[in-house]
Amino acid sequence: MPSGRVHNLINIATYSVLAAGVLVATRQGLLTVTPAQALNFTLGFFVGTFLLSPDLDLAEGRVDSKRRWGRLGVLWVPYGRLFSHRGLSHTWLLGPLTRLAYLAVVLGLLVGLLCFVWPLFPLPALPPPASLKVLLPLLFGYYLSQWLHLIADGVRPDHGLRHGLKKVRRRF
Ligand SMILES: [Zn+2]
Repeated sequence: MPSGRVHNLINIATYSVLAAGVLVATRQGLLTVTPAQALNFTLGFFVGTFLLSPDLDLAEGRVDSKRRWGRLGVLWVPYGRLFSHRGLSHTWLLGPLTRLAYLAVVLGLLVGLLCFVWPLFPLPALPPPASLKVLLPLLFGYYLSQWLHLIADGVRPDHGLRHGLKKVRRRF
């Protein structure tokens, strides 16, 4: 299994090649990418690479992506306890979603706690719902960063299915 540093290098190298390719294709009129789409893709990709890596399933110990959260890294410890290493967290479709859902739950709990302790806390207004044009490049960037990690780990796209079947077989 590659180390966190190797994963980061693979992702950064792939991003550079992809960005160069998109730039050339855009110049030649083969592709249209707006600056906002490029920015959202980049944001999703680097958040996925550095902050929401699949290896957060090791967050009960020391792991690169937990360290990057600084003191907030402790918030990922329950995620590390909840998910076994290279289990559901390392599946192609559900794995990346588990981290987004976990983050949403933790944020919800923190806001709830804040409102309970400090009822008059001036919460910022919720941003208006984002359009698909914004969300798709963001999600695509995020998922691509996760898939590169899984490919480097040697995890196949049917990993979730095989992992689940193994569990079912063990039970019967
Ligand atoms: Zn991994």
